Amino acid sequence: MPDLQSQPNQLPTTRPVAAPGRPSYLELHDSGELQRRIEQAYEVLHHCTLCPRDCGIDRLAGEKGYCRAGAEPVVASWNAHPWEEPPISGTRGSGTIFFTHCTARCLFCQNYPISQLGVGQQVPVQRLGAMMLELQARGCHNLNLVTPTHFVPQILAALALAIEGGFRLPLVYNSSGYDAVETVRLLDGVVDIYLPDAKYADDAIAQRLSGFRGYVEANRAALREMYHQVGDELLLDENGLAVRGLIIRHMVLPDGLAGTEQVLAWIARELEPSVYISLMAQYFPAHKAVGDPVLGRRITHEEYLRALTAFDELELEHGWRQEYCEVDEE
Ligand code: SF4
Repeated sequence: MPDLQSQPNQLPTTRPVAAPGRPSYLELHDSGELQRRIEQAYEVLHHCTLCPRDCGIDRLAGEKGYCRAGAEPVVASWNAHPWEEPPISGTRGSGTIFFTHCTARCLFCQNYPISQLGVGQQVPVQRLGAMMLELQARGCHNLNLVTPTHFVPQILAALALAIEGGFRLPLVYNSSGYDAVETVRLLDGVVDIYLPDAKYADDAIAQRLSGFRGYVEANRAALREMYHQVGDELLLDENGLAVRGLIIRHMVLPDGLAGTEQVLAWIARELEPSVYISLMAQYFPAHKAVGDPVLGRRITHEEYLRALTAFDELELEHGWRQEYCEVDEE
């Protein structure tokens, strides 16, 4: 989970736009469309293609694919999280549900016991729906689904149950950006705020460092679909909290491995320079990156300044820049 110390961009950050307070998923629920999506999504579990890895295995029959996720959701933690971007965390925190398993195997994953070793608790969808209601009761501003891709059907089913119980928070979809376009389409009108990563600009690097297959094209297709659904505006309520929109996260890696300039250039060219971007400097070596000749160090100040310069030169207009902190590596 990214622990953002989000800093307001020096450039214009947000354009407050009055937005209706009613999450769009309520209309889908009332019309019966949400139920149709749930059925469609569970059908995908019979030959899982929720992410672009396309394992094609029957998870409902107990088969496991690359991510190791099964038929029931597995939750690692759920809590109010204060360190997301300011319009997501607000003053009372983002109601975060952190899912176990992952469609990637990042060498530097800070949460590898959860993502790669399966640490977490298997819960029925009824319990997942109850968690959503409990986070709402705690006063969280939104529901933040972290690493949700491989559990989209179960999340939709839990959401329907939570709605029956009075759930009304905006939904944040916080993924690696390695989502099948068809999966993102199942979320059209359900998700209010997309918070995907754009991790890499090179497939070979994405494969080597994270085990992603065909990341760049798949990521860009998913981002296009998210952008198509919610556009470039980040709609805020009267308290400055996000209620609808898209924020793309990008973490700068050592030695230019994340392809930061290319990632930012693609967003500016193929989406809009006005898309909100959260630029992160928080990389530190974890898991298999410890001791690695390239990945075994934090990024340098110069590397981060290059990323900031690219942001400026591309005339990207909105977002947040994480503060760079000098750390004594001794
Ligand atoms: S979600 Fe998991 S099982 Fe499904 S295609 Fe992706 S890696 Fe394979």
